[in-house]
Amino acid sequence: MKSLNLLKNLNNKQKEVVSEIRKNLLILAGAGSGKTLVLIRRIAWLIYKENCAPKSILAMTFTNKAALELKKRIKFFIKNDQKNDIWIGTFHSFAYYILRIYYLEAGLTQNFQIIDIFDQKNFIKRILKKLYLQDKNYSIDNILKYINNFKNNFFNKNNNYFNKQNFFYDPIFSKIYIEYKNLCKITEVIDFNDLILYLYKLFLYNPHILKIYQQRFKNILIDEFQDTNDLQYKFISLLYNKSYNTKIFLVGDDDQSIYGWRGAQVENMYRFLKDFDKVKTILLEQNYRSTSNILKAANELISHNNTRLKKKLWTHENDGRLIYIYTAFNEFDEAKYIAKQIYKNFIKKNIELNNCAILYRNNFQSRILEEVMLKFAIPYKIYGGVRFFERQEIKYILSYLRLISNYNDDNSFERIINIPKRNIGEKTLNIIKYISKKYLLTLWESSIYLLKNKKYLNTMSFNSLKKFINLIKFLKKNIKNKPLSIIIKETIKDSGLWEMYNKSCFTEKNFNKINNLKELINAADDFTKNSLKNKNNFFYKNIKNNLLINFLSQSLLLTEDINLNKINQKINNYIQMMTIHASKGLEFSEVFIIGMEEGIFPNKISFINQNINEERRLAYVGITRAKKKLTLTYTKKRYLYGKEINSIPSRFIQELPENCIKKISYLNKKKYFIGQIIYHKNFGKGIILKIEIIKNNIKLQIKFNKIKKWIMSNYIHFYI
Ligand code: ATP
Ligand code: MG
Repeated sequence: MKSLNLLKNLNNKQKEVVSEIRKNLLILAGAGSGKTLVLIRRIAWLIYKENCAPKSILAMTFTNKAALELKKRIKFFIKNDQKNDIWIGTFHSFAYYILRIYYLEAGLTQNFQIIDIFDQKNFIKRILKKLYLQDKNYSIDNILKYINNFKNNFFNKNNNYFNKQNFFYDPIFSKIYIEYKNLCKITEVIDFNDLILYLYKLFLYNPHILKIYQQRFKNILIDEFQDTNDLQYKFISLLYNKSYNTKIFLVGDDDQSIYGWRGAQVENMYRFLKDFDKVKTILLEQNYRSTSNILKAANELISHNNTRLKKKLWTHENDGRLIYIYTAFNEFDEAKYIAKQIYKNFIKKNIELNNCAILYRNNFQSRILEEVMLKFAIPYKIYGGVRFFERQEIKYILSYLRLISNYNDDNSFERIINIPKRNIGEKTLNIIKYISKKYLLTLWESSIYLLKNKKYLNTMSFNSLKKFINLIKFLKKNIKNKPLSIIIKETIKDSGLWEMYNKSCFTEKNFNKINNLKELINAADDFTKNSLKNKNNFFYKNIKNNLLINFLSQSLLLTEDINLNKINQKINNYIQMMTIHASKGLEFSEVFIIGMEEGIFPNKISFINQNINEERRLAYVGITRAKKKLTLTYTKKRYLYGKEINSIPSRFIQELPENCIKKISYLNKKKYFIGQIIYHKNFGKGIILKIEIIKNNIKLQIKFNKIKKWIMSNYIHFYI
């Protein structure tokens, strides 16, 4: 029945996409043209019209948020009992599940865990120390990049990544890489890139396993295909088997490729046309998301990139509001301006705040925004930044749990050996590391060694270490056969973390930490419930690990969203703040993009890499998130890297068509008056006594609680 509606409201091109007979399809289309929408309807079409089994469908995308969105939207078309059989997720989560099932064949241990970028860096630090390397060319970030790139291009014969410093010709890097691999192996962890690499190898070297999935997934659909890297492309090629009549459906937009720095290759779209059988390409050119002004601006901006497929994008929408460009005095003024707009456009009119997003190039830019939003009492939610599972207190407790699950997890061991403080200092840790280096042992094994060979440690250190090891052993014993949330609750208490934060919970910071720990217990409860619900799901069914192991890995796979949603559960109405990268695929009626300044956006690094085109595509992504209203802001002065600098407006602003924009400046804002109450970051509340205008600025004499001061108006936080 529902299937009848599958073509409803679609334009002719979209209808063609959804209702095409089963064949390999490439949908090439600009932002907001309905790519994700047709992908969802195509899934329903395959099931209802082409009689494909739901379990034959594999739909993949790049972020958890996007995957959740797909899952949510597909529910509308698919019956509940069929929904479970469709696999929708990210590349990484797919890899995770398969590797959990075939860990043995993949060369992993049953309880392997995933490490994040912090733990990766920690490993590298250790290796550099071990190899006595202090060369600038081998900075932690460089090595991390090398390692990740190397893995992403593992099977790439003409590997161009290492033009200058080819892996095979760099003996030092190759040494580091081997050390890194070894550390991962003995501590039983893999990193994010490994997930895809191990999966690919698993399929490549185990044809009987590959066959199971080839036979199952006859319909492979991928959103945001422009952001696949070489390995992901190869993985898809491997899974695709012509003789099983597999068909691939890809949607992508070359103008929105923003993960080049992570090895994504737009060329994969052309490769697909060449490598796969009888691919039909369909272009979608009508944009349904944005007003004409916003679309014109986006089109004009992206036309400055020369290497592109030059798709046209048009809309029936009327011009709509002009794009506002606000020149702020500094970053506080910038945030204040936005807060006031939000107050005016949303809070006063009682419009849901969820419709509004503030986007920025770098995570650090959210700090001032947060500060100002708090002052204005505007509820907000941050995606990315310090994510829930990356918060210190959460990392500590997860490290306890990880160490309990796997004594060899060195990163976790190191993180909590002296948290809460138990008199195990740098010196003891260095002795443990020394033993580990000497005998090729993990930190845990080295500690056991040290407890057996008393000569290395003094009595105090010896006893402290013994206490720590006994604590971990006790915690391990204690959790046996207990439900997940109880395990977490008891570990928080028994580890001493609870007491550590609770002791001084009257500070807001610690109070929040305690709340986050409680939230983790709730998350564990949810996880348990969901696992029960998914018991019969094809993937879950085949995984034998206990809940704790799965929960720990999931906490890394899902860092982006779910959890933050929960934290702010009480308020379901908040401004969304995130990096432009994280905003891919999303839409909001009003969007602010801040920090439109040379060196911030485009980012400074892009000058060095000469990668302005990718920055411009990112700007294109940001602009095309807006449906009705768009505001870009930049500051005159900004505090950056410890000093105040004069900023230069971003070239991207210059590239927007004049007739689509309206410029506003902090200089023509509402004037101050004597007797007005203001607020200053350092001095608190005050009252204006005198006003003087100098050059382009306003100087105010203000009486604060204890002092009287002359202050530039732009340094005032806000007035009441
Ligand atoms: P992006 O490139 O940003 O990922 P997209 O191409 O995936 O964008 P969608 O998110 O699928 O675009 O669609 C953009 C918006 O346009 C959505 O709000 C969607 O509901 C709407 N839309 C798409 N097609 C139509 C249509 N035929 N009629 C009305 N609205 C449509
Ligand atoms: Mg999309």
